[in-house]
Amino acid sequence: MQPESSNPSAAPAPTPAATDKQEYLAMVLLVDDQAMVGEAVRRALATEPDIDFHYCSQPEEAVAVAQRTKPTVILQDLVMPGMDGLTLVQRYRDNPATRDIPIIVLSTKEEAATKGAAFAAGANDYLVKLPDSIELIARIRYHSRSYLNQLQRDEAYRALRQSQQQLLETNLELQRLTNSDGLTGLSNRRYFDEYLGAEWRRAQREQTQLALLMIDVDAFKAYNDTYGHVAGDDVLRRVAAVIRDNCARATDLPARFGGEEFAMVLPATSPGGVRLLAEKVRRAVQGLAIAHSGSPALNCVTVSIGGAVLVPQPDAQPSQLVQEADAGLYQAKRNGRNQVMMSTA
Ligand code: GH3
Ligand code: MG
Ligand code: MG
Repeated sequence: MQPESSNPSAAPAPTPAATDKQEYLAMVLLVDDQAMVGEAVRRALATEPDIDFHYCSQPEEAVAVAQRTKPTVILQDLVMPGMDGLTLVQRYRDNPATRDIPIIVLSTKEEAATKGAAFAAGANDYLVKLPDSIELIARIRYHSRSYLNQLQRDEAYRALRQSQQQLLETNLELQRLTNSDGLTGLSNRRYFDEYLGAEWRRAQREQTQLALLMIDVDAFKAYNDTYGHVAGDDVLRRVAAVIRDNCARATDLPARFGGEEFAMVLPATSPGGVRLLAEKVRRAVQGLAIAHSGSPALNCVTVSIGGAVLVPQPDAQPSQLVQEADAGLYQAKRNGRNQVMMSTA
């Protein structure tokens, strides 16, 4: 297959009906300086209703005429004044709109060297002038049909590639939607579980530290009660943005664990680093300065954060990390909220 011929400008004007091969139409372009040859070929083809004919006597106009008339086969004279026929063959081949059109070279000589040169230049066939009309018509039909079939095949491949690309993009989008939380755009619980499981197994294999932060909005029920659910949703989005912005490494995963509770999975992070990061998130949420009159902590929206860091033991489960971070969160709430508690610190 030659992808360049999928260029729509290379498609012939008359398209054959796919179901009925007899409907197929050949478009012949003859390029020959001798009007007599033009007339002879015109007469030979006149009896064939499925073959259309164009004649061009000016070699320097041939490529432009071919581009305009979109022939399914070119009959090309070899010896013309001003331009060598083989140079012209090369020009058709160099032009994306004409490079795949079959070319039958018309020569006055039955000569091996000339034939060799013609095929080397890119000709598809070679006829000695003037061939009898049966042979001429048969070759025109043969080359035109194979060219049209090639165009159809290229178009089918193009359509196939396009639909494969669309399928790929749809699948990626579907995967993104399956893994993300609709309200905040963070990873959802489903993907959090999957990711934590994978990172847990990696840390277990490599005996490296795996950290988790559980982040819970303080007195959020009261916030909803005071400001309404729509405002509450907006708070969740803004807290989520803070959490996302604080995931510096490609392997850090910000997720919505559920309701007003978020999580950050932090592979290969030390306890000191985790505590610093948690403190940064807590301060950043407070820094949003979203008024929350009913909060027992401050007069603005705050979060409590529980953290845990461990090197997974051979038989341990990821739920251990969640439980430990949860224990830290529980302590942070009990201690008065708007603070960080590390379960292992
Ligand atoms: P605490 O400080 O102990 O965490 O108190 P709290 O009020 O935040 O905790 P509680 O679990 O009692 O209430 C959580 C509230 O979060 C209740 C629920 O309506 C609200 N919530 C959960 N998901 C959403 C949501 O998607 N949008 C909104 N607006 N509110 C939500
Ligand atoms: Mg809460
Ligand atoms: Mg909660």
